[in-house]
Amino acid sequence: MTDHCLPNELWQAARSRSRLPLLTEQHLAGCEECSTLWSLIQSFALAPSAPLVHAPSGWVEQAVSIAGAKAVSKKLAALVGKLRFDSWAVVAPATLRGSAGEPSRRLTWEAEDWSIDLRAENTSAGWNCTAQVLDAGKAKSGVEFRIGSLRIRTDDAGLATWSSARPPKKIEVSDQTRSLELGPLSWKPPKSS
Ligand SMILES: [Zn+2]
Repeated sequence: MTDHCLPNELWQAARSRSRLPLLTEQHLAGCEECSTLWSLIQSFALAPSAPLVHAPSGWVEQAVSIAGAKAVSKKLAALVGKLRFDSWAVVAPATLRGSAGEPSRRLTWEAEDWSIDLRAENTSAGWNCTAQVLDAGKAKSGVEFRIGSLRIRTDDAGLATWSSARPPKKIEVSDQTRSLELGPLSWKPPKSS
């Protein structure tokens, strides 16, 4: 088997929609790792609303490091959403005082043009969670959330709701083109001073 494809070259080809060299195409046909990488790169490069401002460099770097580490395709397919906001990281101690039990929490992740917002409320019956997926600012329906054995899809408003005894430690979010991992999350409440 020839050398693996260079992610940067695949990226350039996908963006310019140019044909791949014959040798590259032959390698892709026989290498699951590289063909997975190629389909991932295509889905990013050809995204209709590709603002992709900070995506290419960081993401390609990640792809390079993964591909260089004898990855399995599953790892390649899982991209990690970046946590952009966590109310527990910014909440003022005074807000927490007097609330029974752990406070509710809000988290926001971003991955490319997706934004995923999670609100988790602790009630006596357990945790009520509401998540919303926006794609370039618009509600994204049909996105599957997996939390343990739970599977919920977003509705037309991009909303997915579920309840569980414990708050989610890890959330998988996916549609046909994308698979993201959110977390792992720690649910130790912030200490009030
Ligand atoms: Zn390869």
